Amino acid sequence: MAHSFFGGVHPKGYKELSCMEPIRPISPKTVTISMSQHIGAPCKPLVSMGDRVTVGQKIGDGQGLCAPVHASVSGEVVFVGPRPSPTGTFVESVVIESDGKFTLSPTVQKRDSLDGLTAEELIAIIREAGITGMGGAGFPTSVKLSSGLGKVDTVLINGAECEPYITSDDRLMQESPERILRGIAVINAILNPKKTVIGVENNKPQAIASLRKHLKGEAELLPLKVRYPQGAEKQLIQSVTGRCVPPGGLPAAVGCAVFNVATCAAISDAVFEGLPVVRRAITVTGKAIAKPCNLLAPIGTAFEDLVEAAGGFASDPYKIFVGGPMMGIAQHTLEASTIKGNNALTCYSQEDRPPQNEPHCIRCGKCVEVCPMHLMPLFLHKARKKGDLEDLEKRNLMDCIECGSCAYGCPARIPLVQSFRTGKKMLRDAKAKEAKK
Ligand code: SF4
Ligand code: SF4
Repeated sequence: MAHSFFGGVHPKGYKELSCMEPIRPISPKTVTISMSQHIGAPCKPLVSMGDRVTVGQKIGDGQGLCAPVHASVSGEVVFVGPRPSPTGTFVESVVIESDGKFTLSPTVQKRDSLDGLTAEELIAIIREAGITGMGGAGFPTSVKLSSGLGKVDTVLINGAECEPYITSDDRLMQESPERILRGIAVINAILNPKKTVIGVENNKPQAIASLRKHLKGEAELLPLKVRYPQGAEKQLIQSVTGRCVPPGGLPAAVGCAVFNVATCAAISDAVFEGLPVVRRAITVTGKAIAKPCNLLAPIGTAFEDLVEAAGGFASDPYKIFVGGPMMGIAQHTLEASTIKGNNALTCYSQEDRPPQNEPHCIRCGKCVEVCPMHLMPLFLHKARKKGDLEDLEKRNLMDCIECGSCAYGCPARIPLVQSFRTGKKMLRDAKAKEAKK
């Protein structure tokens, strides 16, 4: 076992801002539930304005690569139409005014054990519960499980939470180890792996102790070195198994499947409580936040409600990210609402603002040293600026996992990740144009 991976960086964690704060439930007055919370085709709304809904009721679904969405509060549907999403676009959404009662749908039914359930039946339950990668990937978990049947010998449970500032998984592991372990038991029952390993960075001793105390043979626990991006899927596989996922390949290509700890908790809720994904733990943090904390927020909670629940802004924010500062998406307003994959809202203060120099590459090569995907970020950036699509393709831009290690280490503070996101869009647009010819 390697217990580490190539490249990476050691950004300051700032986890102390929120890691001692227990997960606290909040009850927003309205929720805005996006029909596009996953990779794949958006859902079509199944409700109309004026409908009454209950918690866990399915309110959107679709065909193919799709995960249904559910009401996260009980109350009345007051709008169906486009609303701002964390991706910066407007997305078809259902707005529900809460009656404050959190009345459960009659479809929410408990189950005591897995006895008599086949792998296919468990996958169907997980599909109906709308579970997607809760670490942010948004890939429908039922599809990951069915495509792993018969191909996976090692299941990896991702408790690394390597992104600075975020502590929601840490708190979840400390506070709800049984839910995580029950979810792992379900995954084991489906995939029947030879080995299941929970990887947790060793800067989370309470989380490690809590899981260890409750383990009953579902998995082995492996403390990992603290290095960013330890929690990226391919890097976790390399750290734990020593196997390298080939460029453009998926974990199943090397016999692995990776699930975030929050995804495991969601699987437990779905199978044993009958509860779809209607809420999640989310860290609200950063120097601009008055009282950084961890909240249990219904899916669709407005970002402004999260900030209010965290005591509001202590100072004028300089930048707000959904997620952490390395891989998060910058927000221009607080109008959007949470989706299943959002684990944090990080608010930078003015003191985090970088110096305003015109960024200029000094060819120091630091970005190459730290890239865990063995890419050449400085040349990728140059090619992107020139619009040289052939060079971007030749240099495997699409293998970039947008971890931000290169930008973190860049002395010129070049916004490399934004540059690569733009470059990937250029490549995708060019391919789509070519396919239409
Ligand atoms: S780290 Fe920044 S300045 Fe150094 S080579 Fe890479 S892009 Fe250029
Ligand atoms: S090029 Fe992509 S994968 Fe490599 S360090 Fe930069 S963001 Fe991470």
